[in-house]
Amino acid sequence: MDYMPWWSEKSKKFADEVEAFVDDVLLPISLKLQEEGKDPWAIQWKASKLCIDHGFHPLMVLTEEKYGGSEQGYTGYTILNEAIGRCMLNINPLLTSVFGAGPILLFGTEAQKEEFLIPLIKGEKWASITVTEPDVGNDAAGIQLHAEKDGDEWVLNGWKRFITLAALSDYLMVYANSDPEMKRIYRHLTAFIVPRRTKGITIEKINRLEGDVEMANSVVRFRDVRVPEKNMILEPGDGWTVMTSALNIERLGIAGVVGQGRVLQEIARAYAKRRVQFGMPISRYQNIQLRMAELTMRLETSRISIYYLADLLDKGEVDMFQFGAKSAAIKVYCTQALTEMAQHAAFICAGDGYTNEFGIYTVLKNAMLMQIAGGSNDILKIFVGRNEFIKDIDERFLPRALRGVSKEEIEKL
Ligand SMILES: Cc1cc2nc3c(=O)[nH]c(=O)nc-3n(C[C@H](O)[C@H](O)[C@H](O)COP(=O)(O)OP(=O)(O)OC[C@H]3O[C@@H](n4cnc5c(N)ncnc54)[C@H](O)[C@@H]3O)c2cc1C
Repeated sequence: MDYMPWWSEKSKKFADEVEAFVDDVLLPISLKLQEEGKDPWAIQWKASKLCIDHGFHPLMVLTEEKYGGSEQGYTGYTILNEAIGRCMLNINPLLTSVFGAGPILLFGTEAQKEEFLIPLIKGEKWASITVTEPDVGNDAAGIQLHAEKDGDEWVLNGWKRFITLAALSDYLMVYANSDPEMKRIYRHLTAFIVPRRTKGITIEKINRLEGDVEMANSVVRFRDVRVPEKNMILEPGDGWTVMTSALNIERLGIAGVVGQGRVLQEIARAYAKRRVQFGMPISRYQNIQLRMAELTMRLETSRISIYYLADLLDKGEVDMFQFGAKSAAIKVYCTQALTEMAQHAAFICAGDGYTNEFGIYTVLKNAMLMQIAGGSNDILKIFVGRNEFIKDIDERFLPRALRGVSKEEIEKL
């Protein structure tokens, strides 16, 4: 893996270790399981277990040493996701656990970290994130699952849907509405860690998804589910802050894009140098070189921007609002770029690319999902664009005709 110039010696060493693990262990075993015709469900669990056994659970990498983590920061987390992405493997159990555990990692009390985080990083337990509801998708502020205080417990009622691995997770990170009248704007949500086996929780349906990826993605019902106050993250009303901060971890998880892009590049290179048409390897035709250039430009740009984002988070010196806009812009760019990289690889490999030998179309489907999950790209673009218009203008760039018109006059319109 190429190092970024700003990486520490620790990150460089970690990158070498992870690449060796992927090349020597993960890739050969996953290829063997695929050749043996093992189903994707079995392969993702085997791959997840291998990562844990070798100390490469993304959650472990993010966690401080005092809780048993390897404290590699967001850069290490990104390095790991890039390297695993090269296997074009699904490691949903690991990633879902990171997203589910993110709030505990960022805001949990010592007792919560002890009880929930440590078994999660050891891979003894699994977690899911539950935001989406039947009537709530991108409009996450509209969460309806209701939380009401009763003594030193909270009582949850409502529905969540599209919850990945809900049926297998030990803990659900639940965002609930604790103030339906919204007396205080963006202070109406509260976050809870809820053990999945709590009385009143039922898995109502497992969704059948596109592609060959099994995620046990489900609809979950909460009926008079009692949660002790000690399982609340921060305070009542802090749920929005918890959710939006934890989303940064989810958005950085797109580093898998880079790993998958690297494989697409390898596939396209190998194919184009061996496939002969009209008496020449197709790599000598300029249209194939142009497609390779388009693929490579997107790969290089995605890689630089993702590691830049990770570095910003590691340095912790960013204003969260500005950071949110940056992470949204980079998530949109990279997921869109992966779709385009897969299309270029597919056209280079033409008919052979359409066979399932290469997995190019599996990447295409992943890329489509990445454009929806963690905030739909269209909505994130609106956020990014609106954020730019919040900023003041530089009068020097106004055309002469508009100079002298004041901000106040425009605002009156
Ligand atoms: C395989 C899979 C796994 C998932 N896993 C999880 C999980 O583990 N946990 C979880 O909580 N969720 C999960 N989700 C849900 C996912 O996060 C949502 O699908 C996503 O947030 C988008 O919500 P939605 O599908 O309801 O789309 P909607 O919000 O209904 O949007 C539909 C369309 O309308 C557009 N739109 C909506 N509002 C506006 C607006 N104001 N302005 C302009 N355009 C708008 C959107 O861009 C989109 O094109 C998963 C989804 C899938 C498919």
